[in-house]
Amino acid sequence: ELTSTFVSRSLVPTTYTRPPQLRPKSIVPMTVCMDQSRKEKVVVIMGATGTGKSRLSVGLAARFSGEIINSDKMQFYNGLEIATNQITIPERCGVAHHLLGELPVDDSELTASEFRSVASRSISEISSRGKLPIIAGGSNSFVHALLVDRFDPVTNPFSSKPSISSELRYDCFFLLVDVSASVLYHYLSKRVDQMMESGMFEELASFYNPRNSRSTIRTGIHQAIGVPEFDRYFGVYPPEKSHNVFEWDQARKAAYEEVVHEIKDNTWRLAKKQIERIMMLRSSGWEIHRLDATASLRASSREVWENKVLRESVKNVKRFLLK
Ligand code: ATP
Repeated sequence: ELTSTFVSRSLVPTTYTRPPQLRPKSIVPMTVCMDQSRKEKVVVIMGATGTGKSRLSVGLAARFSGEIINSDKMQFYNGLEIATNQITIPERCGVAHHLLGELPVDDSELTASEFRSVASRSISEISSRGKLPIIAGGSNSFVHALLVDRFDPVTNPFSSKPSISSELRYDCFFLLVDVSASVLYHYLSKRVDQMMESGMFEELASFYNPRNSRSTIRTGIHQAIGVPEFDRYFGVYPPEKSHNVFEWDQARKAAYEEVVHEIKDNTWRLAKKQIERIMMLRSSGWEIHRLDATASLRASSREVWENKVLRESVKNVKRFLLK
């Protein structure tokens, strides 16, 4: 059940507005089996940051009349869209997204139990409308919390003595978007540079609050990669003082480069942790289907992605839905 604190939050489901249908005409939408005696069908898209989970979830939602439930704990908040890599409105292609950018940035942290309650309610609502719920996001402890039959809020399933149950409360189809380590490493480094060019510095500068940066305990979005790193920088070079890069001295330029480097390191660390956890889920009995997205990421080509990653996923999901 939802806790009283949670009820006051904006994640409480609101009336559903039907998204514009952008489904290609040639593809027949599939209705999800809603036999009451059977578990609800859910598609779960997993993978490290940067592998294209969001894009795949939209591609599948458009073909199978799906709606997406975000499972990235940094993307629940309404803020830092660049730093947290939130899918943009045009990229959503009219597909309904749930639990994405909905919490005020200073809201207390959403717990795994709260996520389990609210996301399961979204699953039921989506299924009852005859649509396919698609979970997409990189917070694997939340994915675990949502899907296991019996959830223990106290134990960390990914501790050195893992306690991952393979008994799930939904009929799940897991897709892992996998990219070879070297290709992903280079891609993520380039992506951080692109994020900086698209305004991540300015976004973090307006988010900066000297009071928060002094606190040693960070919760919610204040933990997102980029926030602690730039808070230290802004402590020395306050954002209100000169945005003009041409006025920066050598020391300031070096400090900035150092922060960008740190963000790249931390992003790579996150990607490795995510893969490690997905592998733990897999070796604990979760049947996770691997899709190799290396070629499409390397070529940075929409066509390669559609022909390899999307087509393969569509084939697999179709089979799962007809089962
Ligand atoms: P944990 O149990 O450590 O919280 P988790 O798998 O539940 O692990 P993650 O989603 O891996 O949680 O997030 C761990 C940390 O990684 C976050 O606290 C944040 O620092 C960083 N992080 C995760 N997702 C993002 C994101 N989208 N943008 C920026 N930073 C992120």
